[in-house]
Amino acid sequence: MENLKAIVIGAGMGGLTAAIALRQAGYSVEIYDRVQELRPAGAGISLWSNGVKVLNRLGLGEKIAKIGGQMDRTAYLAKTGEILTDFSLAPIVEQVGQRPYPVSRTDLQQMLLDAYGADQVQLNAKCVAVEQDADSATAIFADGRRATGDVLVGADGTHSIIRSYVLGQKIERRYVGYVNWNGLVPASPDLAAKNTWAIYVGDGQRASMMPVGGDRFYFFFDVPLPKDTPVPAEGYQTELSGYFKDWAEPVQRLIQRLNPEKTNRVEIHDIEPLQTLVKGRVALLGDSAHSTAPDLGQGGCQAMEDAWVLSNLLLTTNLSAADALKRYEADRKDRVAEIILKARERAAMIHGKVPDKTQQWYTSLAQEDGSAINGAIAKTILKGPLR
Ligand SMILES: Cc1cc2nc3c(=O)[nH]c(=O)nc-3n(C[C@H](O)[C@H](O)[C@H](O)COP(=O)(O)OP(=O)(O)OC[C@H]3O[C@@H](n4cnc5c(N)ncnc54)[C@H](O)[C@@H]3O)c2cc1C
Repeated sequence: MENLKAIVIGAGMGGLTAAIALRQAGYSVEIYDRVQELRPAGAGISLWSNGVKVLNRLGLGEKIAKIGGQMDRTAYLAKTGEILTDFSLAPIVEQVGQRPYPVSRTDLQQMLLDAYGADQVQLNAKCVAVEQDADSATAIFADGRRATGDVLVGADGTHSIIRSYVLGQKIERRYVGYVNWNGLVPASPDLAAKNTWAIYVGDGQRASMMPVGGDRFYFFFDVPLPKDTPVPAEGYQTELSGYFKDWAEPVQRLIQRLNPEKTNRVEIHDIEPLQTLVKGRVALLGDSAHSTAPDLGQGGCQAMEDAWVLSNLLLTTNLSAADALKRYEADRKDRVAEIILKARERAAMIHGKVPDKTQQWYTSLAQEDGSAINGAIAKTILKGPLR
């Protein structure tokens, strides 16, 4: 379809990727975010090859390679420090045709903002309602402003209000059962090899480091805990020292070196897979459509896939905007449902929901040569739209 105007609500990685893709498709785009200043929540992210391919397709390949970490290997270690398995990621890259890039979220956000034009994102614009008629969709903002277009993209994240509009009801997020702490530390060989994603496992917990650009590690810790157990930032190191008391020396060093003020502590939630992603001229995209546990590292990658599929369908079909959006829903619904359910299952296995299964996983890691893990990751990547 030609000469469409798209209104995008939310300038996270999903909304920005969609705005770039839609503009490259020749559409006029307006993007709005509720915040005064865009600061991504969270420290780092692993962009698997399906996400990277979308960025390549949007002309951002060299830029993502520049800010991405050189992650050549994966190593699983027992909490004692004993190596369970250490293998190359080259087979994934060969199979799917693109290496993954762990990146700092700030760098990713900046790259997307530079590509779109940071000054063209309209800030202080909290969308509070949506309406539509046969010809257009309109976002209504808290200050009374309105923005009308041919299509409206709800990229307003996991607490989406546009999701409530599309579904006709508010849905509750579901606690996955564990807390995640994440941040960035300077890379150092006494923490982990600089080209390796190192994951210490034991007691249903994880401590992990992954190289990102700028000679840094993106780190995270996971601990199964009851819901609603907040701790102030100054207590993070003490609580982590308690949960990881008898773990290997590099884990202790990591706890000492992290900056608690710049560490995030997140109770991990997902949502049930949705049957509906679209209402008329309004489409959900990214976490609003499919908040998922991060145990596959696919939430942001799926938002990028959404952006590509949506812009492509608007461009290549011409019955109506609503028809293109229906096709988008049909294309994405099963893909993202599978990711949510797989990530949930993996979260249960990693975090000791059924202790015997977690123990079996540790045993299988000690027998792993990389082919099963690489194969599973490649399979997920190859189900994306850019194969
Ligand atoms: C601990 C953790 C680790 C993760 N690791 C990975 C990983 O390794 N790989 C991966 O691919 N994914 C990962 N994810 C998932 C990834 O972070 C999300 O899928 C991704 O951020 C979703 O992007 P989004 O643009 O849909 O939403 P968001 O990034 O949440 O952006 C939503 C935007 O909408 C704005 N907004 C919200 N409400 C309104 C409103 N009413 N009006 C206007 N603006 C509004 C917000 O201010 C925000 O800027 C992880 C998630 C977590 C929690």
